[in-house]
Amino acid sequence: MAENIMRSTRSEQRSFIETDPESHFPIQNLPYGVFKRPGEESRVGVAIGDMVLDLAALEERGFFEAAAPGATPLFRRPSLNYFMSLGRPAWRRVRAIISRLLSADEPRLRDDPELRRAVLLPQASVEMCLPAEIGDYTDFYSSLEHAMNVGTMFRGPENALPPNYRWMPIAYHGRASSIVLSGADLHRPRGQTRREPGAAPEFGSSRRVDFELEMGFFVGPGNELGRPIPADQAAEHIFGLVLVNDWSARDIQQWEYVPLGPFLAKNFGTSISPWVVTLDALEPFRCAGPEQDPPPLPYLRSEGKQAFDIHLEVTLQPAGSPLPHVICRSNYKYLYWNMCQQLAHHTITGCNLRPGDLLASGTISGPAPGSYGSLLELAWRGERPLQLPNGQRRSFIEDGDRMVMTAWCQGDGYRVGFGELTGRILPPLDPSIP
Ligand code: CA
Repeated sequence: MAENIMRSTRSEQRSFIETDPESHFPIQNLPYGVFKRPGEESRVGVAIGDMVLDLAALEERGFFEAAAPGATPLFRRPSLNYFMSLGRPAWRRVRAIISRLLSADEPRLRDDPELRRAVLLPQASVEMCLPAEIGDYTDFYSSLEHAMNVGTMFRGPENALPPNYRWMPIAYHGRASSIVLSGADLHRPRGQTRREPGAAPEFGSSRRVDFELEMGFFVGPGNELGRPIPADQAAEHIFGLVLVNDWSARDIQQWEYVPLGPFLAKNFGTSISPWVVTLDALEPFRCAGPEQDPPPLPYLRSEGKQAFDIHLEVTLQPAGSPLPHVICRSNYKYLYWNMCQQLAHHTITGCNLRPGDLLASGTISGPAPGSYGSLLELAWRGERPLQLPNGQRRSFIEDGDRMVMTAWCQGDGYRVGFGELTGRILPPLDPSIP
C-alpha cells in the first residue's frame, strides 16, 4: 500500500523543465555528476532532461545553507567524494531542495531568467568527468547465472559453481587507476596467452577481448578500520549506482587466473557511466531478489526487498556500420547477492571502505540466452558466434567495435535512467613508438 502511494506520488511529480516519458533524467531521478566547461574548473551538477543544474553556482547563491550547516563548499569540488562522505540524511536534504526548486509549481528558478541562465546549462555544452576519486575498486561475482555459465564452460555442469558460491558474495580487489569515463577508448591489451593446455605460452595482442555488463555502487561515509558495516545498516552507506563495463581479455585471463584470480586480464581498463543515480531515486523500483538457498549466515541476512528492477541493454556497433545492434537484454534484479550483502561481506573482517570506493556487481546475466552479459556467454566461448545485421559475426570484440550499455527503471509514465556507457577497443599501442 505504502509502495503504491509512493509510486503514484512519484509519477505525478512534474518539473518546469519538460522531459518526454522516455527521458532518463526527469525530476524523479536527479542523478549527480561532475562536469566542466572550457576554461572553467570542474564541479558537481545534477542532470535534468537535457540540462545540467550547476549545484556549485546554486550553493554560492545560498540555496543549500540548511542542507549541511558548516560543510562548505559541497559542490565546488572536482569530485563527489566529500558529498558522499556526509551520509544519507544530508543527501536527502539536498535532494529535497533540488526537487522543490525544479518543481513545476515552484517559481523561484522557473520565473527568474537570469538565475536560469546562470545555473542551467545544456548537457551538450559541458564535458563530463569521473564522478569520484576512486580510491579502491572491488568487483563481485554476484550473478549465479553468469557463474553457472562460465563454470559450465570451463569445468563442466557438475562442477560449475564453486562450493563457496551460495554461501558468500565472492569478489576480487580490482584496479582503480584504470577506471575511465564513458566515451574513453581503450587499446587492445598485450600479454601472455596459451592456446592449448600443455603448450608453451605466447606473447602478443589479446585475441579474446570481451565486455562485462555490470553495475557498481559508490560507498558513502564508509567505516573505520576494524568496524564492519552490518547488513541492515548497509543502505546508509550506498550513495548511488553507475553502469560498469569490466573489459576483460579472456585468453590472458584463462592462462593467469589460477591460483589468484584475474590480474592483467582486467587491469587495462574499466569504464563507468557519468551520472550517479541515488538509492533515493531507485526506491520505487525495489523488488525481491532470487530466493537464497541455503539461507545465508546471520551476518549476511538482510530483511526486506533488496533487489532493484533495472532494465539493462547492450549494443554492439562495428566500425563503419550505421546502426547499433542489440546483443543483450538483462536486469539488475537477477543478481543472487545484493548490495547490502556485498557491503557486509566486504567489511566483515574490519576492512575499511572510504567515500568514493566503487563496488561492482559482477557480470549481470539472466536466465535466458539473450540476457547473458558477456560475449563469452552470448557466443558460448566462440562455439555460437553472434550474427550481426551487417553480415559479420562476433565471438569476441574486434578493433573499432563500439559497445554501448544503457539502463533504466520503468515508472508509471516516466523513467529513472542511467544514460549511456560507451567505449571502443582500438588496436594495440605500438610499443616501438615512445
Ligand atoms: Ca567482472
